[in-house]
Amino acid sequence: MANPINDIEIVGGHPAVDFVNTVHNWRAPDAPDYLQEYADFLTWSQKVGLLWKGAEKHFLSRPDWEQRAALDEVRLLRTDLHDLFAALSAGKPLPQKALEHLNGVIRSTVAWRCLAADPKDACRSLCCLWEFRDAPAQAALGPVAWKAAEWLELGDANRLKTCPADNCGWLFVDTSKNRSRTWCSMKTCGNAAKVRRFRARQKSN
Ligand SMILES: [Zn+2]
Repeated sequence: MANPINDIEIVGGHPAVDFVNTVHNWRAPDAPDYLQEYADFLTWSQKVGLLWKGAEKHFLSRPDWEQRAALDEVRLLRTDLHDLFAALSAGKPLPQKALEHLNGVIRSTVAWRCLAADPKDACRSLCCLWEFRDAPAQAALGPVAWKAAEWLELGDANRLKTCPADNCGWLFVDTSKNRSRTWCSMKTCGNAAKVRRFRARQKSN
């Protein structure tokens, strides 16, 4: 069977939001998780551009127990980010515990964050990057945690929405001009809703 992480739809509009969407269905207690292994998280990070190709070699050379513990951390952070984003999109106060956990991940990964002269700009300006030499498996959470913090501070909370489909609950940033987007994806939830409306119309005819 193909690894589902390679097939996941990236529709959140921001990497931190797409990270939350690696749970298939937030409305079900035991919905399938796209992140079955620590390696899936690395694959996903590369897919959304948070980790460069080749970085996985370093992390996958870390001891198994460390990778397993890091996957637990990944899932905890994801739940906390879900709670933070969901509160934000509903206009509710942000859950303090989730915020504290995010701060904890930021503090524990800052050691691998560094400033460098940007080679894309012939080294005339600075860029922020990650230097993971000797870093533990848990350090791979840094890029997504920092992206999330950036969005929580600077993103447009009014554009953050939760997909209303029964078996979804994915989050997305609605970047449409008149903020009219309802579904996380027209291919899946939007299309299912269309099919349901069509069938309902057929029945009533
Ligand atoms: Zn959806």
